[in-house]
Amino acid sequence: MTKTMAMEKMLNKADLAAWMGKLETHQLFAPMLEDEGVWNYAPVVKAADVALDQPNTVRPPKDFVFPQRETLYRFEQVRGEAPVLTETLPDPQPSVVFGVRPCDSRGLVRQDIVFTKEFDDPYFQGRRAKTIFVGQACKVPPSPNCFCNSVGGSPSSEDGLDLLMTELDGKYHVKAVTQRGADLLAKGGALFKEASASDKAAVAKAHESAKAHPQRPIKELGKVAGALKQNFDSKAWDEMAKACIGCGICTFLCPTCHCFDINDEVTCSSPCKGERVRTWDTCQFPDFTMHTSGHNPRETLGSRLRQRVCHKFQYFTENHDMPQCTGCGRCISLCPVGIDIVSVVERLGQP
Ligand code: SF4
Ligand code: SF4
Repeated sequence: MTKTMAMEKMLNKADLAAWMGKLETHQLFAPMLEDEGVWNYAPVVKAADVALDQPNTVRPPKDFVFPQRETLYRFEQVRGEAPVLTETLPDPQPSVVFGVRPCDSRGLVRQDIVFTKEFDDPYFQGRRAKTIFVGQACKVPPSPNCFCNSVGGSPSSEDGLDLLMTELDGKYHVKAVTQRGADLLAKGGALFKEASASDKAAVAKAHESAKAHPQRPIKELGKVAGALKQNFDSKAWDEMAKACIGCGICTFLCPTCHCFDINDEVTCSSPCKGERVRTWDTCQFPDFTMHTSGHNPRETLGSRLRQRVCHKFQYFTENHDMPQCTGCGRCISLCPVGIDIVSVVERLGQP
């Protein structure tokens, strides 16, 4: 996204709903309480119900650009004739997603790399171009398993965002990061006031205090990739993966995981009709790497844990100079058997 000159404004908290009311060209989403203690993104029905000080969502915002299931094209073939393919490229209504935590927006940066640099993916790009992400700086890390500071981020990182909002007493400091963020801000008109020097000082102090809050530490991030390489054959992988039940939660709910499977789903046999569909897949499933010969290069739990951790902290770092983990802590908090990526890196990713 095009970066813009810093534009910093102030919005009274009570005027958030009025600003949302002026964004009628876009569909709005924000974190909403889905069930006891479970927050997830949902369409904004009543702007007055939106609160941006909730814990982080269970599902990261990657669904907006890389949905769990997506039709790539439709096909139809009458026996003996050439198949007819119908394009299904997405053309969604423009949308704005509020309340995105900085670890999750940094996840979008990783998705951008995969779907624009590693591959030119028009499905991802079509959705990304129509989705504006409005970040919410964390006052304190929302989970005891957060470790954004340890992986090059911070509770107020702007990476991957169009706007960053920071809550100060009764107000939001709103900073435009991209031109489209600035355009969205401009739609608020007189609701926004220029940020004063004291507002800017207050926001800098809030960001500093959030960053200083204790988090899970990963020491010597720069040496993790090399240490993991050294420990590729360690027996500790099997030992640490023993409890894994292969549910895939750690990857499906990760803001940076992007692996998918592609299947043809036939809905009618005469004429043959159906869809080519892609769905999220996970390196934690035993058949993820199953060859047609029956050989599986990752048939043990340990080899699959190693793949997940090494992809995040070694292979992606070697290819793109950044870890493919943004420290959101979901895979730790939500793993049903308590497998903890920070502990794994502490054990096998330190010199
Ligand atoms: S969430 Fe835990 S149990 Fe499930 S696949 Fe991941 S490591 Fe294994
Ligand atoms: S690996 Fe775990 S902590 Fe890192 S970004 Fe993915 S879910 Fe979050």
